[in-house]
Amino acid sequence: MEAVKKWYDNYPKEIPKSIPYDEKPLYAYLEETASRYPEKKALHFMGKEMSYAELSDQAKKFANYLQSLGVEKDDKVAIMLPNCPQAVISYYGILMAGAIVVQTNPLYTERELEYQVNDSEAKVIICLDILVPRVSKVQKKSNLEHKIVTAIKDYLPFPKNLIYPYIQKREYNMVVKVEQSKDTHVWENIMKTADSNYVKRDINPKEDLALLQYTGGTTGFPKGVMLTHYNLVANLQMSEAWLYKSKPGEETVLAVLPFFHVYGMTTVMNFGIKQASKIILMPKFNPEDVLKVIDKQKPTLFPGAPTIYIGLLNHPDLKKYDLSSIKACLSGSAPLPIEVQEQFEKISGGRLVEGYGLTETSPVTHANPVWEKRINGSIGLPWPDTDAKVVRAGTDEEADIGEVGEIAVKGPQVMKGYWNNPEETENVLRDGWFYTGDMGYMDEEGYFYIVDRKKDMIIAGGYNIYPREVEEVLFEHPAIQEVAVVGVPDPYRGETVKAFVVVKEGKQVTEDELNSFCRENLAAYKVPRSYEYREELPKTVVGKILRRQLIEEEVKKQEDQ
Ligand code: AMP
Repeated sequence: MEAVKKWYDNYPKEIPKSIPYDEKPLYAYLEETASRYPEKKALHFMGKEMSYAELSDQAKKFANYLQSLGVEKDDKVAIMLPNCPQAVISYYGILMAGAIVVQTNPLYTERELEYQVNDSEAKVIICLDILVPRVSKVQKKSNLEHKIVTAIKDYLPFPKNLIYPYIQKREYNMVVKVEQSKDTHVWENIMKTADSNYVKRDINPKEDLALLQYTGGTTGFPKGVMLTHYNLVANLQMSEAWLYKSKPGEETVLAVLPFFHVYGMTTVMNFGIKQASKIILMPKFNPEDVLKVIDKQKPTLFPGAPTIYIGLLNHPDLKKYDLSSIKACLSGSAPLPIEVQEQFEKISGGRLVEGYGLTETSPVTHANPVWEKRINGSIGLPWPDTDAKVVRAGTDEEADIGEVGEIAVKGPQVMKGYWNNPEETENVLRDGWFYTGDMGYMDEEGYFYIVDRKKDMIIAGGYNIYPREVEEVLFEHPAIQEVAVVGVPDPYRGETVKAFVVVKEGKQVTEDELNSFCRENLAAYKVPRSYEYREELPKTVVGKILRRQLIEEEVKKQEDQ
């Protein structure tokens, strides 16, 4: 155990080993920031701005309205929005009402949304007007009682090309007229009519959930990760301690990471609000738009993922833009190539450091110190109050220094468990330790390194894709006998989805047919980019498909080309 604690010796002197965590609901930070910095700009979106006083007032109105719809403490309310002011207002309004936020991806198809709405038991959903046809179908097949609809393009100028990725092709030119009714509520009416006197519910931060955040976890279908107010508050306070040079009330944070993923939610939205920063909202990553916004809005903090930094570095006009406002960037969710780190630092003059985390840990557990003592290629040191170890596969036995095993973590940011899924919870949570499913090692100084993912999750262009989910869709095709979906290396997206299929005897199916079948049932980013037909798939003696072998064969094929 002593060796494990070694990492504290490498903390810069400004970072404490331990922090007294606030025992209050997460939304208290918005109220505090709004009373300390009422006039300070909170959100910048497409050229318009909103102050902290306005943001807090609108969140309170939203809480009040939810309560008027009968939303009680611990009810689940889903959000289906890209980064926009309404996403922030809804999130904090739901928490103020004492309810639990269920984040959904606006790219979800009807089938995916239906699964998540039913599993979480969400009663209300907030969505864009263009998503109404999709949401209405789900409403008929679930216990969703109300949808609250907002038209971003009316609220603020919102060019169509920026929401295009969130709608399906056939919805693109659709004009949706939304009228107030018993189960449909218009955002703008709420903001005009609701008052901000919502009823404060008693929140026990260590027990009460703030969030059901869906993830594939270590295996299979998406599961709801139960994160308490305390989990999220603790990870925020740790973030503040880590970014000790960040000054409350003075920073500008670039919000390219989506808030519906835990990474953007904590390190951008919640961190920005706690620190009274100005948050520059971008609903979609487009290198040119991001470069323009950096040049003009001068963000100082820019959390992102490797593909984002790679995208910017590869833009032909990169040198035309001034990125010198950037002081610090945290890169997570996938390995950060050292070359990218060095190039980006050279171009911006700021620091770009790698961190690590998972949905189950709110999310950050490790990061490199930003201004000194970082090691390139490492995910860094465990955060304050975060214990970490490497265990030999399938045991609780600690591995030696430098020996690869499964990384396990323990700390106040570790989830309560998976929603309605005690079996999966037991698989990953033992004695307070969360077994991450990631393979890695620790060096003599206490720096951690990720070697591989134990789980089969594919990360393509920053999106998580769970092979089993794609396989289940393909299995439903009448011509498919067997299928294995894997992530294969891709120079730009990190990984890309490939399906190996065995077709039933006497049947035929083309790639185009499989492709449209997948597009009907899966968000575009999950649809395989390529298919390969096989007579059979390699398997272990107990019949498990050898995914690794398929990946290795593909890698070899790519190298030979
Ligand atoms: P999520 O739950 O969506 O946040 O995904 C968590 C997974 O992302 C982890 O289990 C890792 O496999 C991967 N991940 C996060 N950060 C890193 C990193 N710095 N390097 C490699 N993989 C990472």
